[in-house]
Amino acid sequence: MNKIEHIGIAVSNLKEAMETYEQLLGTACYKLEEVESEGVKTAFFKVGESKIELLEASNENSPIAKFIAKKGEGIHHIAFDVTDIRESMKELAEKGFQLLNEQPKDGADNKLVAFVHPKSSNGVLVELCQEKP
Ligand code: ZN
Repeated sequence: MNKIEHIGIAVSNLKEAMETYEQLLGTACYKLEEVESEGVKTAFFKVGESKIELLEASNENSPIAKFIAKKGEGIHHIAFDVTDIRESMKELAEKGFQLLNEQPKDGADNKLVAFVHPKSSNGVLVELCQEKP
């Protein structure tokens, strides 16, 4: 793992949360993106070397809708930058971590992503992400 790439925060109202985080971080959102396959609308902010990703559900079956129904708004996942996502997935699986994906998939912000089950990492959903070439 190279660094914390971003922290994902589940929000119920993206527009309002964006205004809050623009105030909090003192910087404007640099990218708005909908990932239809995941049922999310995302807004990214740069904070030094890392980013904040706000996530709003775009339909009621979205994992974000389920997360908010269960736990309320808050930190949803921590994403680590990796150099070779397939290699990292293989290594983690060999160490006994339970992965939620068998293959990397397209994520927001030009990334290949895969997730580690929170049961494997003390309740934290971990995202691996690799910048697409
Ligand atoms: Zn993420």
